[in-house]
Amino acid sequence: MKSHLQWLLATLVVAWVGPAAAALNVFATVPEWGALTEELGGDKVKVYTATNPLQDPHHVEAKPSLIGRARGADLVVATGAELEIGWLPLVTQQAGNPKVQAGKPGYFEAASFVPILDKPSRLDRSEGDVHAAGDPHIQTDPRNIGRVAGPLSARLAELDPENAAYYQARYKAFAERWDAAIARWEKEGAPLRGVAIVVQHKGFTYLIAWLGMKEVAALEPKPGVEPTTAHLSEVLATMQRQPVKMVLRAAYQSDLAKPDQAYWAGQSNILLQAASAWLARAEGNSAGGIRMMRSAADLEDASDKHVAMENRLFPMRELFGYMLLELQQPKTALHEFESSLKVNPNRLRGLYGAAKASEMLGDRETARQWYAQLITLTRASDPGRAELLEANVFLSKQ
Ligand SMILES: [Zn+2]
Repeated sequence: MKSHLQWLLATLVVAWVGPAAAALNVFATVPEWGALTEELGGDKVKVYTATNPLQDPHHVEAKPSLIGRARGADLVVATGAELEIGWLPLVTQQAGNPKVQAGKPGYFEAASFVPILDKPSRLDRSEGDVHAAGDPHIQTDPRNIGRVAGPLSARLAELDPENAAYYQARYKAFAERWDAAIARWEKEGAPLRGVAIVVQHKGFTYLIAWLGMKEVAALEPKPGVEPTTAHLSEVLATMQRQPVKMVLRAAYQSDLAKPDQAYWAGQSNILLQAASAWLARAEGNSAGGIRMMRSAADLEDASDKHVAMENRLFPMRELFGYMLLELQQPKTALHEFESSLKVNPNRLRGLYGAAKASEMLGDRETARQWYAQLITLTRASDPGRAELLEANVFLSKQ
């Protein structure tokens, strides 16, 4: 009886101590490194991931729960290249865990094993550039995950030498599967070569370089800086000149993101809608173009209630007017320009559009009135503008 109890206790002790002693506690900053560490570490690692895919990894609150996790960690796996600079140093410092401080074997930065793209030639943090060390979003090129896997596996072995052979074997198996997957993705991604795209945030440099896509504009004027009306107007003008197939944004930049980003998420939806409209128009689908452009204008009107007028993305209704002019529908176009001018009465492009539409309708008197307003408006500004010259020519013929 006694020996039975001893045997039972011994089993319990083994069962209780066993797995805990074998596991390295890993604190990963983003889901990609959490998943990679689990792949490489198998049941020898216990991974805690600080953010989920719908969280912006640039901005994370250094909550006590995070600090507690860092306190118990044997290894911190971070992206580096300053992606987590706003919160991770604070977390590791507050944790007071000497193992995971920068420079220690328990601190691993993926970006130091990857060639960093988009390093700015001129550094100006005052403008809020969150990519002062180059684009830190290295995970968007899967080859970079492969580059990080080897050193990360070696780090696991360094911290847990007893299981070095286990980590090595898992790395070998992973590298084989990963290379095969990259070859498959490259085949699937081949049609994307040369395709023009717009990005929300300059965070797809590696993906774009890998697949050979062409980034023609970014909605953020600088990484981490909210777009201004003027900047977005430029982006839209670029998109009209150069039809764009898609706008890329991270899942955390969607409507599901933080409430203070909801406004910009809404605005980029409007922009996306407008871009799709002009794309449809460029591809000969005029009806689709009109439908989508009208919807963009309606969406913008709906968003106006919450937004100061000077923060409007772009007068979508005015842009809609120009599409209708191009499609030889001056009557509908004039209606749209008039509606737009009610909200933005002193827009040169609005007045010009209304004048053009009236001219096309053969209503020279109305056209004259719009052109005259345009002249009054622009008296103090650039006399070289094409719309102004045209207005002068029209009025001189009266
Ligand atoms: Zn970024």
